Amino acid sequence: MAKTIQAIRGMNDCLPTQSPLWHKLENAVKNVVSVYGYSEVRMPIVEMTQLFSRAIGEVTDVVEKEMYTFEDRNGDSLTLRPEGTAGCVRAGIEHGLLYNQEQRLWYMGPMFRHERPQKGRYRQFTQCGVEVFGLNGPDVDAELIMMTARLWRELGIDKHVRLELNSIGSLQARADYREALVGFLEQHIDVLDEDCKRRMHTNPLRVLDTKNAEIQAILGDAPKLSDYLDEESKQHFQGLCELLDSVGIEYSVNQRLVRGLDYYNRTVFEWITESLGAQGTICGGGRYDGLVEQLGGKSTPAVGFAMGLERLVLMLETLELDSVRRGVDVYVVTAGEGTLLAGMKLAEALREEVPGLRVMSHFGGGNFKKQFKRADKVGAAVALVLGEDEVSEGTVVLKDLIGGTQNTYPQAQIVTKLAELV
Ligand code: ATP
Ligand code: MG
Repeated sequence: MAKTIQAIRGMNDCLPTQSPLWHKLENAVKNVVSVYGYSEVRMPIVEMTQLFSRAIGEVTDVVEKEMYTFEDRNGDSLTLRPEGTAGCVRAGIEHGLLYNQEQRLWYMGPMFRHERPQKGRYRQFTQCGVEVFGLNGPDVDAELIMMTARLWRELGIDKHVRLELNSIGSLQARADYREALVGFLEQHIDVLDEDCKRRMHTNPLRVLDTKNAEIQAILGDAPKLSDYLDEESKQHFQGLCELLDSVGIEYSVNQRLVRGLDYYNRTVFEWITESLGAQGTICGGGRYDGLVEQLGGKSTPAVGFAMGLERLVLMLETLELDSVRRGVDVYVVTAGEGTLLAGMKLAEALREEVPGLRVMSHFGGGNFKKQFKRADKVGAAVALVLGEDEVSEGTVVLKDLIGGTQNTYPQAQIVTKLAELV
């Protein structure tokens, strides 16, 4: 026998048993973005490598270690997108959607990062991202957070997530702070691990979210970013906090929250859960007012977030909120000369008459017992049975697979009878 070929580590299939839960989640997401009036944008999965190194930053984990980069047949360096913001901004500039305009956009799709696969961390994963361009007030930051909070309520996970918030100020404020932080870290160089030593010179703010407990302990005495914030950023942050307070969204300010990508300024936030173990961040976002210009467009304020759908699916499963509608509503069972065609016609008429009704026909013959077994297996609520007698009399047997009752009705009445059961 030939050797089987397996999927790439960290890249998962979504099997038929799992897709109903994914549909439930995707529909909830689509519903929430739509009730705020946001429009969908779809970008290619592959972009020029340069786009990501310029947008995300050369010395970030994503660009340094995680990108799937390859040369195509023309010798161009291309990369499978590790996130959606860079491509969204690129598309916005390319199609003239950003300058002097307001855009409220969302997208959903696969992203790729070469990380160590583990629960909640994969090499191909799905993000839903939301990006707003052309608005600079804290009101839109608040709306994005309200939108995510609404989604958590709709999914029933709102009691299991918490919001962390911070302001990382302007580029200048961060440059001043960076200097002070590097000065502090130099005094504690003996405690730093290799990773932090390297970051101290390339991206010192990232030292703040080290997982090393010993280093975390000394960081308590490090200079605070909040002491370096510019006046406008302070006001923006205060405005956001007031808005969240008045709509009743709880948060905690985490001075060490800096986020992994370089393009953020002012507001940054993360939604975190304790129910998934180490991979607890389900959604992260913030402002990136400088990115459009950095990618060659005209200066445009922007803010957005991205959430990881695999982690949300895991949460729904862990919290046992993963019940979904049964697979099929009606299963059509037939036996005898000419009944299969009559059954297929009946199924088609029902699909026509009852929008959205999910009707599956039995194929492949077999006795009633075998056919009812299949009906159960696919989760049907009702079986409609057609034998030769029923076909010649224009009737059908309706079997309630949940309640167990069974009655014969004229075919003309079947829609009404079904309505009582499904
Ligand atoms: P983490 O700290 O967990 O690595 P991140 O800061 O790299 O996350 P972002 O780039 O902000 O993540 O992406 C937004 C969201 O996408 C994350 O909060 C998470 O839910 C999800 N995500 C990121 N990387 C992965 C991955 N490798 N597998 C599954 N989901 C992911
Ligand atoms: Mg990461």
